[in-house]
Amino acid sequence: MQQLMFEGTGKLAWRQQPPLVLARPTEVKVRPLVVAACDLDRQIVRGQSPFAPPFALGHEFVAEILEVGESRTWQVGDVAAVAYQPSCGTCKMCRRGTTSACQRVPKTSMYGLGPVAGDWGGALSDVVRVPFPDAMLCRLPENVTPLQAANASDNLLDAYRCVGPQLARIPAGSVLVAGSGGISLLVVDAARRLGAGQISYLSPDRLHLERAEALGANAYPVKTWPDRFPSHDITVDCTNDPRALHALVASTAPGGFCTSPPMYFADVTLPMARMCMRGITFSTGRTNGAAGLPRMLEAISKGELDPLAIQPLIVPWREAADALLGGEPKVIIDRSLS
Ligand SMILES: [Zn+2]
Ligand SMILES: [Zn+2]
Repeated sequence: MQQLMFEGTGKLAWRQQPPLVLARPTEVKVRPLVVAACDLDRQIVRGQSPFAPPFALGHEFVAEILEVGESRTWQVGDVAAVAYQPSCGTCKMCRRGTTSACQRVPKTSMYGLGPVAGDWGGALSDVVRVPFPDAMLCRLPENVTPLQAANASDNLLDAYRCVGPQLARIPAGSVLVAGSGGISLLVVDAARRLGAGQISYLSPDRLHLERAEALGANAYPVKTWPDRFPSHDITVDCTNDPRALHALVASTAPGGFCTSPPMYFADVTLPMARMCMRGITFSTGRTNGAAGLPRMLEAISKGELDPLAIQPLIVPWREAADALLGGEPKVIIDRSLS
């Protein structure tokens, strides 16, 4: 089978791999049909992550079932969204919804990140194994397409958690998003759909600014991150820059919320005195893919969220490498276009 491998900064290549063997009869084999590039993938291919090559890339996906083993829930040919983090659904952490810390898989398990995340293979492959199909696979609602569902368990959920619960607490609250990447634009779109007041978007990238403006934000170019932004009720850090993170926290209004979805690979300091005096809630951490997936598919089905509103670049399978190395905020690779 073919697999797209990350082999070094700016280097992606399709490689032939031996046939995939299931570890247990309870696992299923799937064929990825649609794969979305996560913001983390952008960092990886640009050499901005500590994850050492080579490894198979891709973790946001919808797949067709190829082989069902002992499963009675799934049949060959079924199509399902796959949670990007393997998780069992039955251990103590999974039962409380913290599926990102499942106790039956290696720590920080996810697809598309190599041995450091459990060596589960990557979604840009002909075949992928799903260790706990009943916990990790989710049927698509009738009116949801694989293209719409591809990033439901990861970037869409990540964007929703930055503004969804916060706007429920502060209806029509103002939202400030800083940075770049698909999540930053998904946040803008989700905020508008969920009733945010003024939405401000700051980025050094012209393409991102244009997309954010088209989604309803007031977009402002920045060359270097300032010490402070105007105060907003809800702030979202998509910068991967400790200085900008600091400024966003400092610009969060009293009783407001600041969320930082990207992965920082080293510790950073936060303005704790200001956070305390203003009563700011700060959150970060990896999303709980399997726990959040059904709710995201329901939100797409009901029109509450639209992952395609940010105008992702949709390309055939054979163009995956070039597209991942390009400058588009969000890329989706569709096997049916090949
Ligand atoms: Zn991701
Ligand atoms: Zn578990």
